[in-house]
Amino acid sequence: MDADVIVVGAGLAGLVAAHELTSRGRRVALVDQENATNLGGQAFWSFGGLFLVDSPEQRRLGVKDSLDLAWSDWQGSAGFDRTEDEDSWAVRWARAYVEWAAGEKRSWLAGHGITFLPTVGWAERGDLRAGGHGNSVPRFHIAWGTGTGVVEPFVRYAKQAARDGLLTFHHRHRVDHLIVEDGTARGVRGTVLAEDRSPRGVASNRDAVGEFALAARAVIVTSGGIGGDHDVVRRHWPERLGTPPAEMVTGVPAYVDGRMLDISAEAGARLVNRDRMWHYTEGVRNWDPIWPGHGIRILPGPSSMWFDALGRRLPEPCLPGYDTLGTLRHLRTADGLADHDHSWFILTQKIIEKEFALSGSEQNPDITAKDRAGFLRERVLGRGAPGPVDAFLREGADFVTAPNLEQLVDRMNGLTDKPLLDAASIRRQIEARDLQLANPYAKDAQIQGIRNARRYIGDRLGRVAAPHRILDPAAGPLIGVKLHVLTRKTLGGIQTDLDSRALGADGTPVEGLYAAGEVAGFGGGGVHGYNALEGTFLGGCLFSGRAAGRAAARQTA
Ligand SMILES: Cc1cc2nc3c(=O)[nH]c(=O)nc-3n(C[C@H](O)[C@H](O)[C@H](O)COP(=O)(O)OP(=O)(O)OC[C@H]3O[C@@H](n4cnc5c(N)ncnc54)[C@H](O)[C@@H]3O)c2cc1C
Repeated sequence: MDADVIVVGAGLAGLVAAHELTSRGRRVALVDQENATNLGGQAFWSFGGLFLVDSPEQRRLGVKDSLDLAWSDWQGSAGFDRTEDEDSWAVRWARAYVEWAAGEKRSWLAGHGITFLPTVGWAERGDLRAGGHGNSVPRFHIAWGTGTGVVEPFVRYAKQAARDGLLTFHHRHRVDHLIVEDGTARGVRGTVLAEDRSPRGVASNRDAVGEFALAARAVIVTSGGIGGDHDVVRRHWPERLGTPPAEMVTGVPAYVDGRMLDISAEAGARLVNRDRMWHYTEGVRNWDPIWPGHGIRILPGPSSMWFDALGRRLPEPCLPGYDTLGTLRHLRTADGLADHDHSWFILTQKIIEKEFALSGSEQNPDITAKDRAGFLRERVLGRGAPGPVDAFLREGADFVTAPNLEQLVDRMNGLTDKPLLDAASIRRQIEARDLQLANPYAKDAQIQGIRNARRYIGDRLGRVAAPHRILDPAAGPLIGVKLHVLTRKTLGGIQTDLDSRALGADGTPVEGLYAAGEVAGFGGGGVHGYNALEGTFLGGCLFSGRAAGRAAARQTA
């Protein structure tokens, strides 16, 4: 035996599982295809937003949340409709997860030194139906340190366990096969990859320099999703989302390749809900890319006007920050759009300064460095857009600015092969919207939404610009942003029970095999159902990784 338990994938889920094991005295082999620099996987790059329910941060801001409200929101978003089959464990995971988010989660995180910004973000405001998709209240709690800070304690524990002789790192070891004998997982086999000194996140070589095999009493698969491979994303693209885009930007490093899903299936694990994914419609090309096709997701406030590739304003609920997949469905299925992979924001300088946030730890250096004074200076007291947003405005290939609408549309047309936008038509739509601003009872759903958002102090102070006319020169210059579909999360995967045991085709566990994090659809093979409430992915890794580690520790006692 090389270890008690082998963990495949040194991202957040794998590190949490490893910690649960080593803190119970189990010996762990932690195997990852990337080098030591990449410890922590995607979580290192993440924004560090976490879904919490009825937290002290919410209460201080006057937000009234409850387990009942959160569970109602979760069910409305998930739309579980395969409860006898592919969703049978996902529903149980969902309930357990929401209870955790409303209960122990915050204190458990505090026990690992993870604390939160005083403001709470309002992600996925929803599809405007009480029983439909979306967060009724703000629940997106951003960790001091962003995702880098969330994964840091678990990286530290792993390194300490290695020094204590309980954990062995196997970097540049790519698992190609799970060894299952007599129905029981007994180890892994794979390829040793050539040394690679690339910095974190940069695609590394796949040159084989040898083979390896490791034996243990249990194997935990924590290998992440499929977002780095557009062909796989297209292969599983569901019909309900129309045709997959020919061109997308990539929101995850290249190692998020999804290979372990099929490898796990070959070993007897059941894959479910593969047609469920979570890709964003507000991606922009990174002017300073780290991984291939690197895109950054804009987390927009509610005020930018959103137009399709042909210059038609999107209908509600396709409003910025409301309904990610509803908007994706619209953009992929509306008349005349199938051949166009982009859409547009039109906004003002005043809006970008207050409303644009960029997802990713490196795009939020003040929060990542836990620099509270810098945060206050830049985001609350400061004038102008935060530095990283300003850099995109200046350097980003998808950003254009102009003093008037006609010039702006001309520049926007310069970013596509053919000029698809008509300035007069766009002017009519913006003027109609602007006309509603003077009306306190505005019939425009977006303006109603902006006013509603500003009733929440967190939005009014830090996230939603004071309502103004888009064509007001005092709010300018005008800004156009070309938006791409950005691949990110995989919502389906290996079906697991509440102990993160991988289930086989007959619904019984494959002995000794566990799965957690994104490869397990963040628990049960699809805890989110069809739609996520955001901030639920890191938490899903923590929750399912913890369950896997604890169960595997019991099994190997
Ligand atoms: C920019 C960005 C922002 C995000 N923001 C948020 C946020 O604010 N809130 C939130 O909840 N979520 C967020 N997420 C999502 C979240 O970070 C990820 O879903 C989560 O970290 C996935 O963790 P994981 O452990 O399941 O997998 P990963 O982090 O992908 O780790 C998997 C590891 O397995 C390794 N591996 C894969 N296959 C093999 C193999 N065959 N052999 C050996 N090793 C293998 C990979 O190299 C990798 O190191 C964000 C993600 C990104 C990229």
